[in-house]
Amino acid sequence: MKNIAISFIILLLIFSCKENKENENPKFDLIITNAKIVDVQNNEIQNKKFIAIKNDTIRLVGDMKDFDDHKANEKLDANNKYVMPGLWDMHVHFRGGDSLRKENKDLLGLFLAFGITTVRDAGGDISTSVLNWKKQVGENSLAGPDIFSSGPKLDGENPAWEGSLPVSTSEEINHALDSLENMKVDYVKIYDGSLREETYYEILKQAEKRGLKTTSHVPLSANLQKAIDLGLDGVEHMYYIAKAGSPIADSLSKTDLGYGMMPYIFDTFDKDLAKQVYQKLASENVSVTPTLHIGKVLSNVADEDHSQDSLRNYIGKGIQETYKGRIESAKRAKASGSTMRERMKELAASMIVPMFENGVNILAGSDSGAFNSFVYSGESLHAELEALVEAGLTPAQALQTSIINGPKFFELEKFFGSLEKGKVADIIVLDENPLEYIKNTRSIDRVIKNHKIYTPGTLLKPLKD
Ligand SMILES: [Zn+2]
Repeated sequence: MKNIAISFIILLLIFSCKENKENENPKFDLIITNAKIVDVQNNEIQNKKFIAIKNDTIRLVGDMKDFDDHKANEKLDANNKYVMPGLWDMHVHFRGGDSLRKENKDLLGLFLAFGITTVRDAGGDISTSVLNWKKQVGENSLAGPDIFSSGPKLDGENPAWEGSLPVSTSEEINHALDSLENMKVDYVKIYDGSLREETYYEILKQAEKRGLKTTSHVPLSANLQKAIDLGLDGVEHMYYIAKAGSPIADSLSKTDLGYGMMPYIFDTFDKDLAKQVYQKLASENVSVTPTLHIGKVLSNVADEDHSQDSLRNYIGKGIQETYKGRIESAKRAKASGSTMRERMKELAASMIVPMFENGVNILAGSDSGAFNSFVYSGESLHAELEALVEAGLTPAQALQTSIINGPKFFELEKFFGSLEKGKVADIIVLDENPLEYIKNTRSIDRVIKNHKIYTPGTLLKPLKD
């Protein structure tokens, strides 16, 4: 017995020595040297750093002067380029039906090529594929951004979009949420195609009870403050925040004007009332995805010539076919004299700085995907960051809406948002400083995802005619 105990102690000592040795000089998968780390939170650059990565996690960050020739399977000399966390696009769509599954899958490489290492899919009609890709990216058997998906959207009895789950009774909501939970979606997306006010509130109540996160278009018959009280976690687009900033919002809710109520909202929008709304959004931790860039694109889609857009070389023909719908509706709107999109675009931009200053968790989202004409996957997130800067945020604040606020929505801030020990090693290397000029986020030299190093050129696959 005694001998066994002694052998056991010796074994333990051997193991602990071995472990110590490994800790002294562990073998990493990848070490990045000579990095200028972009600290988005503090709006500063940390010079001459090295970053050591094992699997998908940052294990060590230090000064180059302390660099001890750590062993790694691969080394990347950043050559004093700018190294920062990968971008999050918090509103994208994979959709367009069975025939477009392949074209949607091809978008994954496009996201990576533009430095987008995580996307939040806001609902579509090919959810089984999307959830499969999510799994494969997680297992590192597919190159692409990590995907958070809502699965199919919930809508009223006549859904606006293919693939949505129509609900009108409490039982139907219960059933729909069961099916979403079975699919293991990451959150619930609610759409306002034909959703009645009471049905909307009931969805929020049931989702809250189940601990599911919800983001939504807010039906124009409903009250945003009440939705927040019932547990809404995110608002998509600015219409509903603008409406809550109008003192006549409740009487407009009772009309059947639909989006025809927007001119009344623009005319009565009250900054002080809106400030109270921002404060409520902030205190109740409700995120807002402004989607400014798509607002700009769609506000002049009837007039602008997109035929020479270089990004069209990377978007499947089937997806490009779906762009026609928005062009037609924009032409009709123009013929009818509607200036709704232009006015919304201006009001939305003016609301960004006050929302930020009042502590709202603003999310950078592009709304890219089939049907959303000329809002190209990957590239459009950069355009959204630029629109946020144009609206008055600093480059660091705009980056925060993607890199820090994105993870915060999913309560994952512990693992993302900066390049520090213990964080996920989703990394982009930029030629130029993005804190100086937001367009420098486009100067992508390398993208690191699942400890693989990509150059944008190898990910961008132009279509063959
Ligand atoms: Zn959308």
